[in-house]
Amino acid sequence: MLSGTEKILFIVLLIISGTLSYRSFSQMIRIIGRGNSKLSFDDFGRRLGRALIVLFSQRTVFTERLTISILHAFIAWAFILYFLVNIGDVLEAFLADFHFLGTGWIGNLYRIFVDVFSILAVVSMIIFIIRRFIAGSTELQTGEQVLLLEGAKKGIKRDSLIVGLFIILHVGFRLLGASFSLTLEGSDMWQPVASEIALWWTGMGSESVEIAWHISWWLAIGLILAFIPYFPLSKHAHLFMGPFNFLSKPARSAPGTLERMDFEAEDAEQFGVAKLEHLDRSLLVDAYACIMCNRCQDVCPAYLTGKELSPSALEINKRYYINKNAVLLARGNDSPHALLEYALSESALWACTSCAACVEICPVGNEPMYDILNIRRDRVLMEAKFPAQLENAFNGMERNGNPWNMNKDRLEWIKEDPNLKVHTVEENPGYEILYWVGCAGAFDQKGQKISRAFTKILNHAGINFAVLGNGESCTGDSARRTGNEYLFAMMAEKNVAALNAAGAQKIVTTCPHCLHTIKNEYPQFGGTYELIHHSQLIAALLKAGKIKTNEINDQKVVFHDPCYLGRHNDIFESPRHALQSSGLTLLEMERKRNRSFCCGAGGGNMWKEEEEGREAVRRERFREAETTEPDIIGTACPFCLTMLRDAGNELESSLAVQDIAEIVAARLKD
Ligand code: SF4
Ligand code: SF4
Repeated sequence: MLSGTEKILFIVLLIISGTLSYRSFSQMIRIIGRGNSKLSFDDFGRRLGRALIVLFSQRTVFTERLTISILHAFIAWAFILYFLVNIGDVLEAFLADFHFLGTGWIGNLYRIFVDVFSILAVVSMIIFIIRRFIAGSTELQTGEQVLLLEGAKKGIKRDSLIVGLFIILHVGFRLLGASFSLTLEGSDMWQPVASEIALWWTGMGSESVEIAWHISWWLAIGLILAFIPYFPLSKHAHLFMGPFNFLSKPARSAPGTLERMDFEAEDAEQFGVAKLEHLDRSLLVDAYACIMCNRCQDVCPAYLTGKELSPSALEINKRYYINKNAVLLARGNDSPHALLEYALSESALWACTSCAACVEICPVGNEPMYDILNIRRDRVLMEAKFPAQLENAFNGMERNGNPWNMNKDRLEWIKEDPNLKVHTVEENPGYEILYWVGCAGAFDQKGQKISRAFTKILNHAGINFAVLGNGESCTGDSARRTGNEYLFAMMAEKNVAALNAAGAQKIVTTCPHCLHTIKNEYPQFGGTYELIHHSQLIAALLKAGKIKTNEINDQKVVFHDPCYLGRHNDIFESPRHALQSSGLTLLEMERKRNRSFCCGAGGGNMWKEEEEGREAVRRERFREAETTEPDIIGTACPFCLTMLRDAGNELESSLAVQDIAEIVAARLKD
């Protein structure tokens, strides 16, 4: 128990720590409050449940790097437990003969948990320090080509060391303190580690042990008092900001759904994001929640092919910039620099393929992709600065309703096969399903083949469908992903009017980008429809026996999951089912399903050269597919098909790349 003087000293230090903590925490809250739009707390019970599950189970951490994740979980669980431990230790030090949680089974359980998790946390933290500072793990490094603030380069190591030492010393001294208590009181089977350590002190006099206990208590508790005010400034903030992120993130119908901009708002002066304070609050929370684990970097196709983009560097730069300018930002002043001056380079901005791999993998729910897409909005709408090659796609969408900028009949693809039966909605007003052909399906030669193959399947199954024909326009997906929200809104309004006039309810499309945009983003413009991808319809037709294929089990196909089909819209099984039901042997790449690797076309990259890097994303993916030794690379997106075919040509490979519609249509049984 503490002496009277010690108790007074503790209360004084607690007040000082509380005051400093109030200042640092309220500063953090004011900075987050600078952001745009409110944090989302609707459906609070469900959100709270999810945040608590994430906190206690650490399940979002376990998805990758299993050993490291287990060690991380030991530290996290110990730290959660230490909220109780610190309260208990203070009460026991203040109250004579008080045993926190008693000496019954609850107290026993508590003591064994504390004992075991204390040693696990200390050992895990020592391994982490060795990993970062001695082994120099490459997982924790960022390529030289990426913009990383000088302050961040030094700060990451300094921060990690401070947090690491804090945990080792805080938990370590608490464990030592418990061992000194047991030396005086006798061993406890519910504290096996502390009891073992207590044996080391048996030769010490009881007065010395008592002094040692006091020193340990003050070091353990003193460290926490000193650390709490530093909490929001340290990377350790992720412990509570990670769960808070899950509690307050805006609900999105799909990971890549962007929100509509209000161009009519009278007070709107800024469209898109130029500076930190233009970001949504949830994206400012991201900076505090970031663990700096680089998992997002490990899956980013742009980073992995040597581009200047690293989603983790983006979050880390935001974080260190906030720390450096915290007083100014909290006071409400404008941040002195644009994000493109310190968070990421212009080339990094345009290297993003909007594949959402970073969003999918982040253990604390960060969404670096949204920062990027919102900064693009500022570049296009406020600055008119964007890669020159996008100009043609923008002009094409605006003038001719397609990014190929073709002034042609959208039904030309039908003419090559007179056996196809295709009617427009005017010719067949009683249609059951509307086939959204998309610009690739209407204008691109490779896409046209997909349209014809899919129509053959529809005809074969006797589906009553219709197309909009020349009433269809580009969905505007590429405009939205490249920041041209104004153009996107024009396209969306036009298409929603056409779809509503045609009485569309159920829509099928061969393009995952069209599917994503119409399904998830057109509701913002008054268009709500049931969307299905052609792979889903084909799989359903095969299952129902409405189409049959010649089951020649002679070919192996490796399936490439398109990002906008899989990660963005959760469609993984149907294309696989369609391929297998057609008698092909299905092969899988290592990066598949929600961990699929992008083809390189998304985020508007279809319409421009890739940013400078070590390799093209499409070639990286093609080579990965080749390693499975397939006869065909199968995919389900016209953009992926184009990219992978281009890669095959560049690599002088004769490996076939086909859409699932082409593969199934070629095997249809008469
Ligand atoms: S969306 Fe994809 S390309 Fe863009 S930063 Fe994230 S992982 Fe990288
Ligand atoms: S954004 Fe997420 S995945 Fe990326 S470094 Fe931060 S915590 Fe890790």
